[in-house]
Amino acid sequence: MTGSSPDTNINLDTSRMPSAVPVDDAVLPFEVAALDLRGRLTRMGPALDDILTKHAYPAPVGKLLGEAIVLTTLLGTSLKFDGRFILQTQTDGPVSFLVVDFQAPDRLRAYARYDEARLAEAKDSGGLLGKGHLAMTIDQGADMSRYQGLVALTGGSLEEAAHEYFLRSEQIPTRVRLAVGEEWSGGKHRWRAGGLLTQFLPKAPERLRQADLHPGDAPEGTELHAVEEDEAWVEGQSLVATVEDVELIDPALSGERLLYRLFHERGVRVFDLVPLQARCSCSRDAVANMLKSFSAQDRADMVKDDKVVVTCEFCSSVYQFTPHEAGVTEN
Ligand SMILES: [Zn+2]
Repeated sequence: MTGSSPDTNINLDTSRMPSAVPVDDAVLPFEVAALDLRGRLTRMGPALDDILTKHAYPAPVGKLLGEAIVLTTLLGTSLKFDGRFILQTQTDGPVSFLVVDFQAPDRLRAYARYDEARLAEAKDSGGLLGKGHLAMTIDQGADMSRYQGLVALTGGSLEEAAHEYFLRSEQIPTRVRLAVGEEWSGGKHRWRAGGLLTQFLPKAPERLRQADLHPGDAPEGTELHAVEEDEAWVEGQSLVATVEDVELIDPALSGERLLYRLFHERGVRVFDLVPLQARCSCSRDAVANMLKSFSAQDRADMVKDDKVVVTCEFCSSVYQFTPHEAGVTEN
């Protein structure tokens, strides 16, 4: 279901030429009708930089969390309600936990926990994560049901985990590309990122057949039947495969121009941009309420130098309370 205002729907081949103006911190939905493709393109600049810089993460951790943030924007912005989409990993690698919290329509916050001493042992994002699982939760509010999708992480990247999820759980042929980079300009360091999600959504369900990613644990000697994918999806995947990381991140290349570059031969239509912002939902009242939920002993244990100090893990905001305000009774 869509909201009350209809999507603007601009065919980049016939309605007008693609805009040359790059827009950061936004998701651009698109459609390639001739190939039955639907997708979203995310470009992130200042909002991503804001989230990652508040924590001063080592570069490999910032890059991995950036990938998780972009993946979250590609998935979360497809939801048409005022809920939350939360992506979390829990693994045995140097980055043992990360969480990205997207609150519709546009708020993002995220953080990662990592073991600095172990970072050097990982060669890539998959190695940083290690083994464990990725959970995606859709939370529509207190009285609504929660949906959770789980996918095993086995040393691969978040892109691979997303492919596995869509293949197994949603049965939608999907390709995801994620790229995060560091930009130096005027002596200042900035994080940038981009991502592309493309899905094959034909009207006829029999066209959805997919080549299996893994042969599975069929007994030896079992003949694996070769699955021939739909021609349109084969073409769609080969077009998506041509996207380079630099194109996804390039601050001078507009999202519309990138989509046009990829799909202009088949015709590509774009819809309204979905803006994103880095904004935490923490507040002094919320922290005070959380303190009230702790036991008296736990609150008493939090007093240091006659204060209770709570730091938000998402945005590093610091909240200070007197022991009285924190509900600690002095003897
Ligand atoms: Zn916060």
